[in-house]
Formats: sequence, C-alpha cells, structure tokens
Amino acid sequence: MPLCQTAINLKTMIFSTYIRYMNIDILAPEELELLRQLIDDAQHIIICGHKSPDGDALGSSLAWCDYLKSQCGKQPAVVMPDAYPDFLRWLPNSDRIVRYDKHQEEVKQLFQKADLVFCLDFGSTGRVDEMQSVLEASPAKRVMVDHHTNADMDTVLSISRTDASSTGELIFRIIWQLGGFERMTCQGAVPIYCGMMTDTGGFTYNSSRPDIFFIISQLLTKGFDKDKIYRNVYNNYSQWAIRLRGYMMSQKLNVFEDFHASYFAISRSDMRDFHFVKGDAEGLVNVPLSIKGMKLSVSLREDDRKNNLVWVSLRSVDDFPCNEMAAEFFNGGGHVNASGGRLYCSLDEAEKVVRQAFIHYEDRLKRK
Ligand code: 5GP
Ligand code: MN
Repeated sequence: MPLCQTAINLKTMIFSTYIRYMNIDILAPEELELLRQLIDDAQHIIICGHKSPDGDALGSSLAWCDYLKSQCGKQPAVVMPDAYPDFLRWLPNSDRIVRYDKHQEEVKQLFQKADLVFCLDFGSTGRVDEMQSVLEASPAKRVMVDHHTNADMDTVLSISRTDASSTGELIFRIIWQLGGFERMTCQGAVPIYCGMMTDTGGFTYNSSRPDIFFIISQLLTKGFDKDKIYRNVYNNYSQWAIRLRGYMMSQKLNVFEDFHASYFAISRSDMRDFHFVKGDAEGLVNVPLSIKGMKLSVSLREDDRKNNLVWVSLRSVDDFPCNEMAAEFFNGGGHVNASGGRLYCSLDEAEKVVRQAFIHYEDRLKRK
C-alpha cells in the first residue's frame, strides 16, 4: 500500500475513533426510527419555542425548520408566543416566524390543522404562556426537544437532556444521527451555533464538555464567521441600552458582599427614561458576576404593561443552584447557573422576596 494511502487510512481511523469517543448520537435506535416515521407521515408541521424566545429557542427552531425543509421536503411553520429581541433579527428566516401575540387566529388555525408539533427549548406547556391553551388543544402529535429540568409535557417522543448545553446542541446531534450533517448548509449551521453560543454566554458557562467543541468544529466547516455572530448578538446594543446598563450598575446595584450575592431592579420609569425596547436588559444580569467572589446575581424588571408582574432572572457560578431558588421563590426554574421566573407583586415587594431568598440560602451563599 502506498505510503500516502496508509496515512489517509490512519487519519480516517483516528477521526472515526474520535467521533465514536465523542458519541454524538443521542437517540436510541427505536427513538430514531420513531422520529423518522413521524416526520415522514406528517403533512402539517409546527415548530414552536417558549415565551420571550432567546437565541437558543429561536436558533434551534430555525435550524430544525431548515433541516425539515431542505432535507425532508416539508413546509413547517415556526411559531413563537411573542416577540424576540432585536439583536436576533439577523438570523436567516427569522422574519418568517409567526407570533401568537400578533396573529392569534392564524396561529390557532395552524395548531388545529397540524399533525406534528415540535416543542423546542421548553418542557412544559406553561412555558408558552398565553399560547398554552392553543398548544394543548391541538390534535397534533407532540415531540419535545429540551434541556431544562422538570420536563412534564405529554408527548409521543421526549428528547429531554438536562446535561446538554442548549437545544441547539441537541438539534445538531439529532440531525447528525439522522444522517443530515453532510447536506447541512451554512444557513442550517448558523442558527445552531447561535443557540449554543447564547445559552452558554459565549461559551463561558455550561460548556466544558469536549464534544461541544467537536460540534462547533464541525459547524465551522460550513463556512460562517463565528466572530461576526458574536458581534451580531453581543455588540449590537443601542446607545440607550448601554446607558441603561451603566445606570443600573452605578446607581441600582445592591451588593451583599458577605452573601456573595447582588440584585438590581429595573422599574417602568427607568424603562421610560432609557427608551427601553425588548432585549435591552438581555445579559445585564451576568454583569455583577464579574465582581470578584460573586456567586449569585438576580435582576428584577417590572412588566412594561401589566401591573403586579415582575420578571426575574438569576445567574450563578459553580454549584450554586439558582434554578432551585427560582422554583422556590420566583415561580420559575431553569438551569443550575441560569434561571428565571416571575413574581405577581409590586417591584418593592419583589425586592423583599429577593432579600428573603438570599437569607434562606445564606449558608450556601456565604460559604467560600
Ligand atoms: P432568562 O433569565 O434569560 O429569562 O432565563 C434564563 C434561563 O431560565 C433560560 O434557560 C430560561 O429558559 C429559564 N427560565 C426563565 N424563566 C423560566 C420559568 O418561568 N420557568 C422555567 N422552568 N425556566 C425559566
Ligand atoms: Mn435553551
């Protein structure tokens, strides 16, 4: 055998061993077969994400839509309960998403007619908020792909992996296992990357498994500029959003040094003063975590319309379980290091709840 052929064989062998070690496949053979069958049989497919869709809900939905269209010949509709942030508008085909809050009748009809619904990036029907009854009334079979804890949705197939970085990562693995990676285009790869990047804060948390970087290396072969995606998402604020951030950090941040915890609250009047639009506060809750020793950061934001509704975001480092705190104190949940919820009270009362939560977790927060 010529030397170069031996080298190629060796390279192939090492590469396939590497892939096997990475174990990209996540579905059992019968699950894979069921998924294939469900897609084959479906005439009217809906893909939907959770309320206030983030980069992962949007990215995984658009990537899955791209796969079903380009490789399965389907015409799925992508439906979201409400608006997504401005900084995700550059995502290919995001303009085709149908919003329930704007087109209630159209979405109702889509769900009535659907025979297969993919629920991406959420595990219980309550996460679609106002769209819940429409989703629950649909006669369609349901498939869930999610990485949150406490998934409890009725489905014919639940792909729920709480150890995954993102639903984008799960969609990559599913497409890979379905044999669709070769034919994946740049347009299909970009939203997956966006989902993985945004759900890991630009690969700064929940992203230490080597297979995540194997997946990224594969996605990059599709030829997109990952640095540009980073800029599109994180360096895309309006001057007012930056001014709001500065104001919050300098004037409104409450730091409890011995608790290694902090919170800030954005009121409606702050929002008016800083010409707030959806997405302006995105990621702001992460900022206090850059204070040395900080373990937990909580943000509160008054709803811009409804009284007595306060949105809560929590971020933590290491093993501090902010999802437990979110479930116990803020009617929410999420991941160990990134969770959210809501309170049905005034902003002042919400601040009291935050302080109570800090005291409740005092021992774990004060621990070095
Ligand atoms: P964010 O702070 O960005 O709104 O949410 C952070 C994380 O917590 C996201 O992964 C989101 O899906 C999850 N999350 C936010 N709100 C809720 C909630 O009300 N319930 C649950 N289970 N998870 C939530
Ligand atoms: Mn997610």
